[in-house]
Amino acid sequence: MMYITKRMIEIRNLLSRVGQSSSVTLPSIVVIGSQSSGKSSVLEAIVGHEFLPKGSNMITRRPIELTLVNDPQAKVDYGEFPDLGLARVTDFSLIQKTLTELNQSVPESQCVSDDPIRLTIHSPRVPDLSLIDLPGYIQVAGENQPRELKRKISELCDKYIRGPNIILAISAADTDLANSTALQASRRVDPRGERTIGVITKMDLVDPEKGAAILGDKQYPLRLGYVGVISKMPVQTGGLFRRESSSLLASINKNEKAFFNSHPEEFGPNSGASTGTITLRKKLMHVLEQQMSSKLTETTDAITRELEETTYQFKVQYNEQPMSAESYLAASLDDFKHQFHNFANTFGRQQLLELLKEALDQKVLDQLAARYWNKPIEDLFIAPVEVDSLVDLPKADPKSPYWHRQLDTACSGLTRLGVGRLAAAVASNAVQANIDKLLDKSSFAKHPSARQVISEAAATVLADRAYATSDGIEISLKPYKFDPDIQPNEWEKGREHVVGVLQGELEQCQNAIKSLENSVGGRKKLREVMSFVDKARKGEIIIEGDHPSGAGGFSAALLARGREAVFLRDRADIINMRIVASKSRKCKSLENKYYCPEVFLDAVATKLAQTAVLFLNVEMLNDFYHRFPREVETKLNEYMNSHGGNGLEKFAREDPKIRRHLDLVQRKELLELVLMKIQDLHRFDASGNVKPDRD
Ligand code: GDP
Repeated sequence: MMYITKRMIEIRNLLSRVGQSSSVTLPSIVVIGSQSSGKSSVLEAIVGHEFLPKGSNMITRRPIELTLVNDPQAKVDYGEFPDLGLARVTDFSLIQKTLTELNQSVPESQCVSDDPIRLTIHSPRVPDLSLIDLPGYIQVAGENQPRELKRKISELCDKYIRGPNIILAISAADTDLANSTALQASRRVDPRGERTIGVITKMDLVDPEKGAAILGDKQYPLRLGYVGVISKMPVQTGGLFRRESSSLLASINKNEKAFFNSHPEEFGPNSGASTGTITLRKKLMHVLEQQMSSKLTETTDAITRELEETTYQFKVQYNEQPMSAESYLAASLDDFKHQFHNFANTFGRQQLLELLKEALDQKVLDQLAARYWNKPIEDLFIAPVEVDSLVDLPKADPKSPYWHRQLDTACSGLTRLGVGRLAAAVASNAVQANIDKLLDKSSFAKHPSARQVISEAAATVLADRAYATSDGIEISLKPYKFDPDIQPNEWEKGREHVVGVLQGELEQCQNAIKSLENSVGGRKKLREVMSFVDKARKGEIIIEGDHPSGAGGFSAALLARGREAVFLRDRADIINMRIVASKSRKCKSLENKYYCPEVFLDAVATKLAQTAVLFLNVEMLNDFYHRFPREVETKLNEYMNSHGGNGLEKFAREDPKIRRHLDLVQRKELLELVLMKIQDLHRFDASGNVKPDRD
């Protein structure tokens, strides 16, 4: 019997996922009544649970779209708030609390909101029904109720009581029917009383004759008739536990039977009066089923039209190109992997060698600065310049133990600086930076969280190998720590290369001087300070300590810059000199290594880099190329399965273009499904099991 209602409710749920589809509206039962007419009691009696917000000052401020699902499999009754993601709430006091909170979330200034609260209740004991509970009409606006409240509630109710909805107009027997706000409202939109069911509550509060007269009302005749009920909650006898749904309805039923049966003349089988909550429930089921059936053709047409429009849009906007979150992720991943393979093909041993050598060049410069270029600049103001090693360097006697020690110390400073760790860090940083660059150019750039997952996957794989790799490199470099064993051809290459490194360093010194010039207000000014610093250094001017307010008419800050500039100028002079030396004939031969520490250290650095890279390439880079794509898949999978299994959809929808495409495809698929389901209903209808009245 309730086949169509059940299916149509399913269809309505599907349609609600399509988004706003204004042209398709399925009939619901809208419950209206004035405050205290007994509206909540009737609804709770139908459901079999107390779940509606209560309290003397509790005004319903939002419509509640209540869907009852007859679920023979359900072991316990439960409610669901689909919009809140709250599923299987078996505690009805929690449902009541949630409804109260949602209700109170409407600010008083707004009075009421037409944003409905959706609640679904599953139970083997409820019929399939779709009910909408609306705020109760206010007769007289209370002292602390805004005046507009009355008008706004009326407007809200008017919006819902339009066809094809069925109106359940609640009036209390102890008030004059002529004053029933519910019936007055229904009359406005349903003047012939074709889709209004009258419910008369509080039948126990009036004389049976009067009650029977109301139910047989001729003044406001309704085609669907009146039902009299006594839905006052029975006094609770139990202690802590709330009533079971079966017992609530049973006790209401018992109460009603006791009353109506004791007045057979007025309410007996021959009286023609329709009474009792159970009768009301049956009536609601029957009427809704009829209404749903009668709307079948109209609804089918509306859905067909929507589907046609959606299909057309799909063709025009997307040329029927399919789209799903899965396919989007797969395509994005494929594309990223492709870019990654391109990178892997172009980034190998040679590139690693260049990067590592560049890092070691800096270390060579550090050693040179510490051992050979060490003018004691920091003592400038205290003592005149001492004879420094640089002055002696061109004359370095190969037999002098001093020069041996200098070169040995510089060399072991290089071989023992932790090349393994440096190499692993250089490789990790370079690979990570490249992966991040690839990500920025990929579609993952629009998905910050997923982008981070991939970037972190790279970091994990790299970190995994870093320790073992650096250890392995250190072992392979051990022999050079004792004897670098530079060959003539290596010397020659070192000589060519180091000149470039020195020139680069020189350029940096010069740029730094330029920016100092700019910062003090020009070259002239800087020269003045520098000349003052020079004089102080030579002892021509005596400055006792660093005076905070400066000296010689220069501020302390200016003097600091002057000292820095002097240091840079001297450094540039030295480097210039060493470039000339490295290029000179003397430095052509390996024999003269004590004169040419720059060339020697460069050759050593190259040797270290070459050996380290062999290891680095196999242990770190190749391992990374092999493991990274797998790690990405695993980590992305985990990510997509997070968020309650919703990660994939959430991911795809982060890109607005994809979201629009997905929306349209999903809308089309849903409408196709709905159409199929509704056409099924027609077949069912044609086979004679259900015979709906057609409009
Ligand atoms: P609402 O404001 O329209 O939702 O009304 P309620 O359902 O909260 O009912 C208002 C009051 O009327 C409550 O105190 C109920 O217990 C009482 N009430 C509801 N139905 C009946 C009934 O059939 N008989 C009697 N005697 N009292 C009822």
